[in-house]
Formats: sequence, structure tokens, C-alpha cells
Amino acid sequence: MSWEENIRQVDPYIPGEQPKNTGVIKLNTNENPYPPAPGVERLLAEFDEASLRLYPDPDSEELTKILAEYYGILPTQVFVGVGSDDVLAMAFLTFFNSNRPILFPDITYSFYDVWADLYRIPYKACSLDEEFRLRAADYKQENGGIVFPNPNAPTGVFEPVELVEEILKANPGVVVIVDEAYIDFGGTSCLPLLSKYENLLVVQTFSKSRSMAGMRIGFAMGNEKLIGYLKNVKFSFNSYTMNRTSQVLGVEAVKDDAYFKACNANIIETREWMKGKLRQLGFTFPDSKANFIFAAHESIPGKVLFEELKSRSIFVRHWERPRIADYLRITIGTKEQMDKLLLALREIVAAHQ
Ligand code: PMP
Repeated sequence: MSWEENIRQVDPYIPGEQPKNTGVIKLNTNENPYPPAPGVERLLAEFDEASLRLYPDPDSEELTKILAEYYGILPTQVFVGVGSDDVLAMAFLTFFNSNRPILFPDITYSFYDVWADLYRIPYKACSLDEEFRLRAADYKQENGGIVFPNPNAPTGVFEPVELVEEILKANPGVVVIVDEAYIDFGGTSCLPLLSKYENLLVVQTFSKSRSMAGMRIGFAMGNEKLIGYLKNVKFSFNSYTMNRTSQVLGVEAVKDDAYFKACNANIIETREWMKGKLRQLGFTFPDSKANFIFAAHESIPGKVLFEELKSRSIFVRHWERPRIADYLRITIGTKEQMDKLLLALREIVAAHQ
């Protein structure tokens, strides 16, 4: 027998490229182009050796408290993790523990099937309709749990809270995870449904709307009991997941609500302006309520556009997959970055006429 037969072999998730050179216009991983709240940077300068030498608070109590306050729930209803990827990975491990397949859309965050494979959770991908919308009926079959992003990624399509509730109503016997990584860019959170459905887990992140992808802060909100189970698994895995710096700076970010709202409004404004510009260039796209647009050109293949942009040091995201191979996922950057992107696209489109 070979030692390799005993190994947990997985095909890992492949994140968007983080180019080493700085001259790049980076529109490929949905980071925020604006800096975090001014208080965050100020506080960062004050860190001393103790924050390196000592273990962090395993409960992230201060961060949990301020998030609970901000979202109008109890601290016992909040779970924080090292980015929402960590929160989601823990949630899969905790809540998807049956032999029935979990359900998620076929075009969605490409980490879901990786976690399912890693934990050996059976799954079924439910196809989105021709407009990239979720079909509620698909989520009424027997299952071991449900997870989907809202707005969806990479499409940007937002599903109304009524659809989320329809899915919850049909599934009282399993946990339903709504991944709201992009909710702050114009969607409506399903958070109010927490009081009605104790099997709902809402997951959010500081990586996009709070400009803190580098600090790795994510959190989940749910019923006390649900959060308790999640904590039990987390504390059976690693007590000190979130470092002190993230905990302290996360609190500071939540305090500055005016800045948070102003940045989000900027992104939304740029996104809406960008939709018109892309349309003029011959692009079509589902209407996005996220900080990216998922766009296909009427005549130029996605791969060609992707390569042409890359050769001009503009990075966007592209997947060579059925149904979406002609699409580019373009993160909304600053107006200046978008102007440069449009200039490049105009050039590429003209050269291909
Ligand atoms: N969910 C979705 C839908 C995402 O697109 C991302 C970003 N890759 C995440 C979760 C994870 O983000 P983070 O771990 O930075 O919070």
C-alpha cells in the first residue's frame, strides 16, 4: 500500500491573482479601492509589542459586542472568524453533517464545492435560470442544507428577501446559510428573518464594504443555539483564530458608520455609471447589486478580453466554465481606475471590429 492512499486529496479553491508588481489596476478580487475608516489607520500606529507577544481574546468579545449592537441582536448571536471564508468553512463543518446532498446554485462562489469535497459532504448544484436567477422550486427537494450568496457571486444578482423566506419556509429541517458578502452595495439583508427562522445563518465580511480584506474579518449572525454549535466546532479546531490587531481594528471600523456609508455610496454610484458605459461598448450583464459587474461582450470572447486587459496591466476575473466563459467579473474601483479600464476596452473593441 502506498502512503498516498491515506491522504485527504483535494482540488483546492483558486483565488484571484495577487500580482506582485504595483503598477497593476486590480479589479479581480472585489477588494474595495478606498482605504479603511481613518480611525483604523490611526489606531494601527499605536500597536505595541504586547499585541504580538500575547494570545488574542479567543472570543473576540469586543468585536462581537459592537457587531451585535450595530445589527440589533445579542452578542450570543454573533460568531466572528478569520474572513467569511473561515466562517463559512466552520459553518459547513458544523451544519452540513448528513448523508443528504446540500444545495447551492451551479454558478456561484466556487469555494462551496471545494469545502463540500474537503469535508465529504454530498452536494447538488441547482442551475440558475437563463437570467442567472435562483429558482426557488429547486430548493424544495430533499437536502442536507442550503447555501447561496445574496447578491450572488460572480453574477451580482440580488434576490429579494421574499425569495430567501420562501426557501426558509420550505426547509425547516436544515440550516440555510445566506452568504451576504456583498450585501452593503445596494441589496437588503435578510437579517430581520432571524427572529422568525432559527435555522438561518447570515454571513458577512469586512473584506468588501469595510475595505479590510487584508485583516481577514468575517462574521455570522444567527439564533443563539446555532451560534453555540458553531463555536463548539471552532473551539475544537483552533482557539486563537483572529489576531489582536484584526479584533481591535475591526471594532474601530464599525464605529465609523458615516465613512462606511459614504464609501458604499461611492461604489454604488460608480457601478451605476459604469453600467451605462459598458452598455455603450456592446456589453451585456445581469443587473448587479454588488461591487462588481459580470459582463459579456456581444462579439469578443471572454478569454480574449481577459488576456488583452491583462497585457495592459488590468486584472479582472474570468472563468473558463460552461455558460460563463464569455463573461468577465469586473470589480468596481475608483472612477479613475474605471476610466482607464474603459479606455482599454474601447481600444480592444475597436481592434476587433
Ligand atoms: N463569499 C463570497 C460570495 C465571496 O465572493 C467571498 C470573497 N472571495 C467570500 C465569501 C470570502 O471573503 P472573505 O473571506 O474575504 O470574507
